[in-house]
Amino acid sequence: MTTARQTTNIAITERGGVSDYKPEGAQITDIYGKHVFNDHVMRQRLPKQVYKTIKKTIDNREPLDATIADTVAAAMKDWAVELGATHFTHWFQPLTGATAEKHDAFLVADELGNAILQFSGKELVQGEPDASSFPSGGIRATFEARGYTAWDPTSPAFVRKTNTGATLCIPTAFCSYTGEALDKKTPLLRSEAAMSKAAARLLNLLGSEEVTGAHSNAGLEQEYFLIDAEYYHQRPDLVAAGRTLFGAPSYKGQSLEDHYFGAIKSRIRTFMEDSERYLYRLGIPIKTRHNEVAPAQYEVAPIFEAANIAVDHNMLIMEVMKEVAGKHKLRMILHEKPFAGINGSGKHCNWSITDSLGNNLLEPGHTPHENMQFLVVLTAIIRAVDKYAKLLRISVAHAGNDHRLGANEAPPAIISIFLGEELETIVKQLVAGSKTSSKGASKIQLGSSVLPHLPKDTTDRNRTSPFAFTGNKFEFRALGASQHVSGPVFFLNTMVADSMDYLSEQIQAAIDGGSTLEQAADKVVKATLTKHQRVIFNGDGYSQEWQAEAAKRGLYNLKTTPDATAHMMDEDIIELFEHYNVLTKGELESRYNIKLETYIKSLQVEVDAVKDIAKTMILPAALKYKAQMDSLNLGPAVKAISGDLDGQIEALAKAIAKLEKEAAHEGGHDLGAHAKHFCDKLVPAMLAVREHADKLETLVADELWPLPKYREMLLLS
Ligand code: ADP
Ligand code: MG
Repeated sequence: MTTARQTTNIAITERGGVSDYKPEGAQITDIYGKHVFNDHVMRQRLPKQVYKTIKKTIDNREPLDATIADTVAAAMKDWAVELGATHFTHWFQPLTGATAEKHDAFLVADELGNAILQFSGKELVQGEPDASSFPSGGIRATFEARGYTAWDPTSPAFVRKTNTGATLCIPTAFCSYTGEALDKKTPLLRSEAAMSKAAARLLNLLGSEEVTGAHSNAGLEQEYFLIDAEYYHQRPDLVAAGRTLFGAPSYKGQSLEDHYFGAIKSRIRTFMEDSERYLYRLGIPIKTRHNEVAPAQYEVAPIFEAANIAVDHNMLIMEVMKEVAGKHKLRMILHEKPFAGINGSGKHCNWSITDSLGNNLLEPGHTPHENMQFLVVLTAIIRAVDKYAKLLRISVAHAGNDHRLGANEAPPAIISIFLGEELETIVKQLVAGSKTSSKGASKIQLGSSVLPHLPKDTTDRNRTSPFAFTGNKFEFRALGASQHVSGPVFFLNTMVADSMDYLSEQIQAAIDGGSTLEQAADKVVKATLTKHQRVIFNGDGYSQEWQAEAAKRGLYNLKTTPDATAHMMDEDIIELFEHYNVLTKGELESRYNIKLETYIKSLQVEVDAVKDIAKTMILPAALKYKAQMDSLNLGPAVKAISGDLDGQIEALAKAIAKLEKEAAHEGGHDLGAHAKHFCDKLVPAMLAVREHADKLETLVADELWPLPKYREMLLLS
């Protein structure tokens, strides 16, 4: 008898390593941005005056001049049609965390029965998808379902092509008719405005009078797994829950550490090259690819871009790569913990701020003035991360990421900042008011001396810190691989805006009290760092000592999604978002509800899948094997090595019964309590089922085992 698993194993020997290389002849420079309605295309195709107006809108993030919309729409349509587009869609990002689209043809029929292609300014600027089925977290009753999408001209429109057609995609924000944000883009854009204003105010005060604003950047490193599509389809847990809920460890996991940065197999490389070509056409600057730590795990990273665009591009990267993987008979898995016992997948958000003159505010400078500015901005960020640590923790809290944070492969659930030795020394000296640096050379005082040289590529790359300074940017490392990046970025922008305003006020007050600018900045930086330096930690974030030390310092250690989310409606959080017009209390509350609902629903899928797979696949296989064994007259030696088959079968049945009992618990109305029940009762109950199922996997005859095994999924491709 050949099992489905064996058939797949054989099929892969023919697939693996075969590259379907067709010379394309195209250089990156030939294809890059070819499917994007970018600056270059606009300059070519728009009347000069219209081009100038739209450029101003984009650069200054100003409201769109309605009179030019028709002209822009017509040019966009002509361009898209030349690329084969028949349809357009507003492309938006509802609170599901995925993207959404509803296509309309450019088609209009005239009286003679002919087809005309049309696309109006109104259709470009505003859309009205029936939004009744998107989650709103209670913000909007279904009877007033109408939401509308509004063009975001700062993120360029693009064409997505297939072999049979193409669609013009217009990035949009998605709001209710009463103006509430129903999406992930709107608060990000609002937070950019808030941070821009606060940064300009602070920099103006510090003497950079020409600065009119700032924006944040994001460089997103994306981890993922690839497994053969046929295995995937034989694993109902992967299909439904995105991760394996069962599976004994592979003999060969990541212990040999031979996968990290290893030679990339040609089948995988072919997939990477194919998806990159697609992404280059979309103007996404993919830069880096490599094998990651776990077998079958990889990473892709583009060059950083303005955060709003980087976030859109990250969504496209995930979507396009999933599609292209299918073409290669692979499945891309973005879950944070698809396989137990080996590393899961995260997403690093490299974040920085650029002012309107193009200066990176996180770049230590060469002049005393630049240094003062750098240290004040750094102080603002340190204060923000300490004051709103719980917010950063909330921004990465979801069911998948609960498997990673604090699991010795990802940063701990405690939010702290890593500065590196040089910078930490400077902070310490600023706090102590000491006059000399450790090197005994320059005087550490704001605005009066040049900072010691800060090496950008410190060998001391602390991988255990959730929020690390890496030379000219911060790297927020706690994000889950699957997650939408808007939340982490808009939380960060808003809390940093708050800190910048705080420092502006304090410095202004000191100046009003008679201090010089330098004295004022010195004093305020010192006081602020003294208060918030507890969040700085350069040691091993994975260690037990840090857990104890962090508790002593009074830092939050919010281990699970329900624990973290419990702080989402804290008074200071509501005030922060309301003050900066990023989220109203209602909008925040809707996100709180959705976060918990999503947590509960995704765990409910897992619970149902565990019950089903255990009862209809694993238990029957074990019983069949038991019947075979029982029919034989076994000698004592065979018995001795056969393990406790009967005992494990009984234990599995008991564990399933326990899970069913816990799952029967009625939710009630309190989302927080319901989520806690899933976390405290159902997660351990699922693990107990798994424990016995995985033991059985090591006892039952291989030919009877219904699920592809870890050693197959992870090592064969
Ligand atoms: P790693 O952390 O793996 O060493 P890199 O240092 O090469 O990786 O950079 C990772 C990401 O950080 C890339 O996307 C890169 O473009 C981005 N990055 C570099 N400089 C900045 C910056 N100033 N702001 C935001 N992201 C940046
Ligand atoms: Mg990195």
